[in-house]
Amino acid sequence: MSRRRFLRLGAGLGAALLIGSARSAQALLPPARRGRVVIVGGGWGGLAAAAHVRKQLPAWEVVLLERAAGFFSLPLSNAWLIDQIPTDFLTRDPVAAAKRLGYMRIETEVQEIDRVARRVLTAAGALAYDYLVLAPGIAEQTGHWVGDDPAAMAALQAFDSAFVSSAALAPLKQRLHGFAGGDIVMSVPPTPYRCPPAPYERACAIGWWLKTHKIPGRLTVLDPGAGMASFRSAFDTLFPDQIRFLPFQNIESVNPFKRIVQTDFDTLHFDTAILAGPQRAGALVARAGLDARDAQGRSTGWADADPRSLQARADERVFVIGDALGLASPLFGHYPKTAHMAVHHGRIAAAGIAARIHDTAFEPFFPESVCWVTDSFTPHEMIRIDTHYRQRGDGAIAQQVEQARENNPRGEEKAWVSGLFGEVFGAA
Ligand SMILES: Cc1cc2nc3c(=O)[nH]c(=O)nc-3n(C[C@H](O)[C@H](O)[C@H](O)COP(=O)(O)OP(=O)(O)OC[C@H]3O[C@@H](n4cnc5c(N)ncnc54)[C@H](O)[C@@H]3O)c2cc1C
Repeated sequence: MSRRRFLRLGAGLGAALLIGSARSAQALLPPARRGRVVIVGGGWGGLAAAAHVRKQLPAWEVVLLERAAGFFSLPLSNAWLIDQIPTDFLTRDPVAAAKRLGYMRIETEVQEIDRVARRVLTAAGALAYDYLVLAPGIAEQTGHWVGDDPAAMAALQAFDSAFVSSAALAPLKQRLHGFAGGDIVMSVPPTPYRCPPAPYERACAIGWWLKTHKIPGRLTVLDPGAGMASFRSAFDTLFPDQIRFLPFQNIESVNPFKRIVQTDFDTLHFDTAILAGPQRAGALVARAGLDARDAQGRSTGWADADPRSLQARADERVFVIGDALGLASPLFGHYPKTAHMAVHHGRIAAAGIAARIHDTAFEPFFPESVCWVTDSFTPHEMIRIDTHYRQRGDGAIAQQVEQARENNPRGEEKAWVSGLFGEVFGAA
């Protein structure tokens, strides 16, 4: 199949798949001539994998499957919530990126992975793969807060934290902008969770919003741990009247109808809430039998993959990247679940797959993470968090974290995100 016909087919199929609803075993595409890499998930990790596999394997089919339309960045979204970043800076066109970079993007929900037959089952058909990259991000578990009652679970969605999907950001922004006063309760998820400084940065954004707009409201932050020292000091010094920080609080239950949160210490009433629950890998990981087990044989909820090569331990044809990845080292736990890290994972998985196909030696390189977060919006001050890795003599992966304060930033955070956009969308 010529590249042009391949891309045309992709565009046509993308439209057709929006109509499909029931799972079908009918083939979604004809067999690939040379071979096919399928990527599940078109967030930061999946987009990076698609771009890099495309470069490394020009003669292979590269197909990215993503259930959502469009792309909206979670990085810098806290500043967007309070109108400090424009919408168009955070949105990108993933269909145009697929065309530009030369891979096929199909908008569909992946429902199952048949690892024996090496195919994925989607709403509109089955797709065979030679190699599979899984980048499904995270899922949140909050049902236990409401005793798994379906009506209460539906009501809980009104207090979504937008930590799982950026689609929940717009309703969150609407709630914040419509808030005229009263109590907001926000929870920090238990570790490991996506973007560790993000809840604290968001607290500072909300504190700034209340203070700047003179809204008679208070944000209570419930943290299962002690919090991050740099942000706790910002809460105390910049927002003493807006933010109340309560450490070592685990949510036991939520009544979304009466608007009550019960922790192991307190009962809190709220007018609105931003409730982030415990996280785990996107559901496909466990469904494909690729989740790690603890000493008692229980699922940890996170993917069991080699932290250097990112190859699933149960299947040499599958690579798991991004936030879904499980334990990286007994010394520090998980890699930080950041966009920067997910993009590096995409690079590593692509290089590993290409080396396998070309039968060349491959020594996986270490990923790294950079994160720019804001604690003071006026005057603008930021913290840069860098994370590096090395192999210790005994084989364990060691992590080095550096935090640097930038008291006079000049667009560093935007330049950093633009660099990532350039890498995964082929244009900043
Ligand atoms: C408020 C906030 C602020 C953040 N700030 C930063 C920051 O400043 N810097 C930083 O580096 N990181 C930041 N992050 C973290 C960053 O967003 C994540 O680490 C990153 O999105 C992880 O990429 P991923 O590809 O693993 O997952 P995702 O980006 O979540 O992508 C997963 C994709 O898979 C798709 N998917 C899942 N299941 C299926 C299925 N069955 N079928 C089809 N598609 C499926 C989903 O729709 C989704 O698009 C922030 C996160 C939050 C919540």
